Amino acid sequence: MKELTNFKAINDYCSSVRRYLHQHPELSFHEDQTAAFICGELKKLGIDGTSVADTGVYAVFDSGIPGPTVVIRADIDALPLQEEADLPYASKVPGVMHACGHDGHVAILLGLGKILAENPPQKLKGKVGLLFQPAEECPPGGAVKVIASGILDGADYILGSHLTNRLPLGQVGIRPGSLMAAVDCFKIEITGKGGHGSSPHLCIDPIITGAHLVNAWQTIVSRRIDPLQPVVLSTGTFHAGTNFNIIPAGATITGSVRCLSETIRAEVESEFRQITETVCRADKTSARIDYTPGYPVLHCEPDLVQKIRKAVDASLGANTVIQMPPVMLSEDFAYYGQAAPSAFFFIGARNEAKGFIQENHHPRFDFDEEALVVGVKAYLAILQAE
Ligand SMILES: [Zn+2]
Ligand SMILES: [Zn+2]
Repeated sequence: MKELTNFKAINDYCSSVRRYLHQHPELSFHEDQTAAFICGELKKLGIDGTSVADTGVYAVFDSGIPGPTVVIRADIDALPLQEEADLPYASKVPGVMHACGHDGHVAILLGLGKILAENPPQKLKGKVGLLFQPAEECPPGGAVKVIASGILDGADYILGSHLTNRLPLGQVGIRPGSLMAAVDCFKIEITGKGGHGSSPHLCIDPIITGAHLVNAWQTIVSRRIDPLQPVVLSTGTFHAGTNFNIIPAGATITGSVRCLSETIRAEVESEFRQITETVCRADKTSARIDYTPGYPVLHCEPDLVQKIRKAVDASLGANTVIQMPPVMLSEDFAYYGQAAPSAFFFIGARNEAKGFIQENHHPRFDFDEEALVVGVKAYLAILQAE
């Protein structure tokens, strides 16, 4: 008879993996050392990892018993951000930081791999694909490359999760249907006619058009889309001009659009183009519109979500799982829904008493590492669920 898993040891292992990766963060599609580290850890477990999507790693654990193939994805990249916290395991790479918790995602998946290899649960059937995906933070992202590689062909379902300080330690957040937003980005280059600031009538002022546009776009949200459909349109940059007394010849504006439905997504783009062209015509300017699709809506298969709820509550305690509202953040995990039924969940990591309160992408982001073993236990429970 096999020994029961020592979760204290698994937690220590996950924590040590996470701290190593936290000190050695790498940017999207540059995760070479991270991938080598993951392959090294898998090798210690007797599992062969193969390269996928340039700097990702894929490994399969086969229980030897007929059953489904379940793929579990962890993203592995860090962000271009200077870490500000004075931690013993702070980033050793200037200007690069694991500020989204992907170091923790790798730790959870390696912790799970360790249990599967050393002490596989007796109820486990089929195969488990351990997918360490590169470049989540950099659209078009690593997921499309993973799917294009064909390694997911034949997968019965695909799971993923994200650590978050929006939920307290010990809680797991799910949602059937739309969980995370689609994101598109835009860049508008307005062309007018420059000249002296004292003679606007002899110029065509692109700044006026830009100001009109920034306001007019908000009427898409407030006046053109069903108010029960969430849409966020944010202008991120507005650049024009060189001096206080010159009307510039051009202006450039960038921004992002997020929503929770693919139908609304198409509607917003159409309205955006129409408003931009109409405002420019009225102002006698012209505009070049770049409207680039980013990640799609992250849709969670309701049957899978129900399975997660039942399995995790049974394993970690009733009411561990809560149904959360959708979030307007985006994730390239959303693409996996095109490859197989998929579901994503959030793992609570907030602990006010220990100061783990910052949002992901904050230069002082850190999380309670006890959440790592919560993630491992959640996946173990789901893998064994009927
Ligand atoms: Zn992120
Ligand atoms: Zn992330």
